[in-house]
Amino acid sequence: MADIAKIKRKKLSGQVPLEVFRLLRLVGIRGALPMGGRSITAVVGREMGKSLGCSTLEDFFKLLLDLKIGIPELAEKSEKKMVVRLHDCMVCDGMEDVGEMVCDLEGAIIEGALAAILNRPVSVKETKCNCNGDGVCEFTATIR
Ligand SMILES: [Zn+2]
Repeated sequence: MADIAKIKRKKLSGQVPLEVFRLLRLVGIRGALPMGGRSITAVVGREMGKSLGCSTLEDFFKLLLDLKIGIPELAEKSEKKMVVRLHDCMVCDGMEDVGEMVCDLEGAIIEGALAAILNRPVSVKETKCNCNGDGVCEFTATIR
């Protein structure tokens, strides 16, 4: 994170419009790769989640907010299960209901981060998505 946070763009700063990310994510990866790029997003997301270097759930949630990935809400938590909602999701908030869930990358980021924080195997499934008409993104983590 420290290396990639070194940004030296004098005129354009460290910000790019969200459309650029959505173009990469939804057109480039989901649209162009076989199976909607799901095997790629699973590997990439998990590695991203791990590389965030968070040691607590609070740190991770703060980072999700600071990086503007979304506004996290812990909807449910037990020994074997965690439900995380992501409001204002960077990928899908405001998009039309197309009857599909499109935030598998975010799910994999959560999976990688939780596995690192808990030091246990975690598998995450996207259970709600704005693109599925749910009004929020939601991820259910099964902790083994
Ligand atoms: Zn989403």
